[in-house]
Amino acid sequence: MGRYRGPVCKLCRREGEKLFLKGERCYSAKCAMERRAYPPGEHGRSAQFRRRRESDFARQLRAKQKARRVYGVMERQFRRYYEESLRRRGLTGLNLLQVLESRLDNVIYRLGYASSRKQARVLVTHGHFNVNDRRTDVPSMLLSPGDKISVREGSRQRKHFKELRDIAAERSVPDWLRRDVESLSGEMVRLPERLEIDGNLNEQLIVEYYSRR
Ligand code: SF4
Repeated sequence: MGRYRGPVCKLCRREGEKLFLKGERCYSAKCAMERRAYPPGEHGRSAQFRRRRESDFARQLRAKQKARRVYGVMERQFRRYYEESLRRRGLTGLNLLQVLESRLDNVIYRLGYASSRKQARVLVTHGHFNVNDRRTDVPSMLLSPGDKISVREGSRQRKHFKELRDIAAERSVPDWLRRDVESLSGEMVRLPERLEIDGNLNEQLIVEYYSRR
């Protein structure tokens, strides 16, 4: 499955807010939003002073693009997630966010085993994780309640993972996940509730975006 390969800080500048796509750097003074908090491109700086009233479509599009960028998902796959969320029972918008949160790379990030979803993705594609004791290298894999993840035996001896125990212990874990930092493992206990999903996302606007076409 494809992924965005361009400069990620541009995505934050386009959305006009920090999307926290780069791990530690996002919390430092090097963050591009601290230094150039205006849209990218030749007219970006002047655009910040131009106040235009956004159409409904523009707001829906921005909401969708922002969610895509936060989770690092390309358009085609994002639409598939929307279609999946339509098939599930309950509120389509919440279903969509739950599908996105169930991605393996997101779960690893939420467990504190990666500083960003992007880093989680790299760790998964390099084969450092098991899901239910089976090796997987697919970051987009959707987990279900009861699924267990762990760092593979061979990877635990690597410097990165030896240091990870202390680093991860400092990071908080949401209630819908369970973590055992000593064994570098975790479990998805249930799907997240709406209030447990941060990122300032507006799922209603995303549903409106896809409903109109
Ligand atoms: Fe966004 Fe992080 Fe880059 Fe700042 S450092 S612009 S929050 S990706």
